[in-house]
Amino acid sequence: MDVFGVNTRSSDLFWSKVDRETGPVHPTLGRCWPWTGTKSNGYGMFNAGEWRIGAHRFSYRLLVGEIPDGLQLDHLCRNPCCVRPDHLDPVTAKENTRRALVYRGSREERREARVRRWAEWASQAVRP
Ligand SMILES: [Zn+2]
Repeated sequence: MDVFGVNTRSSDLFWSKVDRETGPVHPTLGRCWPWTGTKSNGYGMFNAGEWRIGAHRFSYRLLVGEIPDGLQLDHLCRNPCCVRPDHLDPVTAKENTRRALVYRGSREERREARVRRWAEWASQAVRP
């Protein structure tokens, strides 16, 4: 038994809240797996009984393994609710902040970039 409670019951519950079929398709990383459960600041939050953890952190633990001590998981796809493990890159808090600052720019730029990015993804999305 570990602190995040990765077990059959929690992993079943986890997968019931992940959309692996209809998420946006990133041009280089492939399809995102958006979290459909509770979100906080855009990040998926996984509640399973007595503990609560970022959904992307649970996903990484479940499918990849231990998150190295003190590291945060940076979303390479810039989609904070995405839980696809190969879209997650373990980085130091410092590096994560640096990347976020490079990425963010001003509030306006950020909003425009987001709209542009989603339009790009939507146009490239593979539809069944
Ligand atoms: Zn993603």
